[in-house]
Amino acid sequence: MSKKRVLIIGGNAAGLSAASQVKRLKPDWEAIVFEKGKYISYAGCGMPYHIEGIVPNLADLIEITPEVAVQERKIDLRLNCTVVAVNPEKKELRVNTPAGTRTERFDFLLIATGTVPMTEGIRFEKTKRIFTLKSLSDTEDILRFIDEEKPQKCAVIGGGYIAVEMLEAFRGRGLETHLIHRRNDLAKTFEKEISTIIKNKMQEKGIILNLNKSIEELLEKDNHVIVRTATEDIRYDFVLVATGVNPNTELLTETPIQLGIKNAVKVNKFLQTNYDYIYAAGDCTETINLITGKPAYVPLAPKANKEGFIAGINICGGKEEFPGVLETAVTKFFDLGIARTGLSLEAAEKHDQSTVKFTFSSRSRAKYFPGGGKLNTVIIMSKTDGRILGAQLAGPLDSVKKIDVFSAVITNRMAVNDVFKLDLAYSPPFSPVFDTVTLAARLGRKYL
Ligand SMILES: Cc1cc2nc3c(=O)[nH]c(=O)nc-3n(C[C@H](O)[C@H](O)[C@H](O)COP(=O)(O)OP(=O)(O)OC[C@H]3O[C@@H](n4cnc5c(N)ncnc54)[C@H](O)[C@@H]3O)c2cc1C
Repeated sequence: MSKKRVLIIGGNAAGLSAASQVKRLKPDWEAIVFEKGKYISYAGCGMPYHIEGIVPNLADLIEITPEVAVQERKIDLRLNCTVVAVNPEKKELRVNTPAGTRTERFDFLLIATGTVPMTEGIRFEKTKRIFTLKSLSDTEDILRFIDEEKPQKCAVIGGGYIAVEMLEAFRGRGLETHLIHRRNDLAKTFEKEISTIIKNKMQEKGIILNLNKSIEELLEKDNHVIVRTATEDIRYDFVLVATGVNPNTELLTETPIQLGIKNAVKVNKFLQTNYDYIYAAGDCTETINLITGKPAYVPLAPKANKEGFIAGINICGGKEEFPGVLETAVTKFFDLGIARTGLSLEAAEKHDQSTVKFTFSSRSRAKYFPGGGKLNTVIIMSKTDGRILGAQLAGPLDSVKKIDVFSAVITNRMAVNDVFKLDLAYSPPFSPVFDTVTLAARLGRKYL
C-alpha cells in the first residue's frame, strides 16, 4: 500500500493503542490523533484511587505522555482539537482547533471517542459542587474542591462500579458519605447476593445508604447541593453523579455510520463500521456477548485497549478479529474484592430455559493458614449441558481474581464435569485444596 493518512478521534486507551500500532507497522504512514482535552493515554481506572489518596500523584496515572507519543512513537498529536463533523463519503473531518476550524482528509479513520456520563433522567448541570467523573480534568476539579472548600458531607448517586469505588474514595478521605440509589439493590450487574454483601460492607465502613430514592433534580443553593426526590430535599456539600455511561457518538448521529445498542457504533469482527475504511474501537463501540452471540455494550478498559490494538493492525492491512466479551470485571470496596463474569441470572434465563443459580462460601486460603477470609461465590449454570454461564465473587482482595479462571471456562464453553477435572494450582496460602472454581464444578454436578 502507498503512504496513507490515518486520522484517529480520541487520544486515550483505544485511540492511542491504534495510533501506536499504525506507526509500528507502517512507520511512513501518518497517524494523526485529535484529542479534545489536554491529556492522552491516562488510566481512568486509577482516578478513584488518586482521589482517595492511595495514588498520590496525578502524573502516575498517565501511561504515555504527549512527549513520548510524539518523539518516540512518532504520532502526530493534536491536543485541544475537537472533531465536530465526520463526512464518510468525502473522507473528511471538520476539526475545531485552537487556531480555528479545519478540514482534514483521511484514507482511514478510527473513531475512539469513548463515553459520556449518563444522567438517568436526573435534571442537573455540572457546577462547582455537582460532579461527574470521566476525565483527569474532572479528577482535578473534585480534588481542588475538596482542598479549597473542606466539605464534610457528600453523596454519590449510582450503584455500579464507579459509585462503589468513589464511595470508598470519599469515605477514605474521612467525609460523611451517602449512597443514593434508585433501587434497593446495587446495579443489576451484581447479583442480589453480591449486592447485599457490598451493602453490608458499606454500612460497616460508615456509608449512609439512601436506597429506593428516585431523584428528580439537583440544585446548587446557598453553598450546598439540594438533592430533590419525589418526597424530600436532602442537602449535601457536594454530589457526584455516577449513574453509568453512554457511548459518545453524538458526532455520528447525522451521518450514515450505523449505530446499535445505546447508539454505540456498530462494528464487524474486524472493527470496521459499515464503511470499510472507517474503524471504531473502545467504549464508543457495540460488541458481542460471547455466550448469547447477541450485541452488547460493555465499556471496560481491557476491551478498549485490545480493540484499539487490533483496529490499528487491521488498518495496516491485517485481518485480526475481536470476538466479543463476557463483561468480566473486578473492583474493590476497602478490603472487599468484588468480581463478575458472564451472564446474570436475569440475562441467562432469557438465553437458556434450564438456567439454575447456586451460591456457596468457602475459605479464601486453607482454614489453618492465617490471613484468609470468606469467599462468597454465585454461579449461574445451564442444567441442559452443565455449562457455567456466569460467576460472581465477593471476598478478600487476593481471592477474587479467580474470576479469570471462570472467564476462561465460560469462553471455552466448558461443562462442570470438565471444570472439576482441571489441573488448578493449590497451596495453603492461596486457597483450600478445592478452591472456588473446583467447588463450583463439584456443586454444579449435582444439578445434572
Ligand atoms: C472512574 C472510572 C473508573 C474506571 N475503572 C475501570 C476499571 O477498574 N476497569 C475497567 O476495565 N474499566 C474501568 N473504567 C473504564 C475505562 O476507563 C474505559 O473503558 C476506557 O478508558 C475506554 O477507553 P476509550 O479510549 O475507549 O475511551 P475514553 O477513555 O473515554 O477516551 C476517549 C477520548 O476521546 C476524546 N474525545 C471524545 N470525543 C472527541 C472529539 N469529538 N474530538 C476529539 N477527541 C474526542 C475524549 O476526550 C477522550 O480522551 C473506568 C472508568 C472511569 C471513568
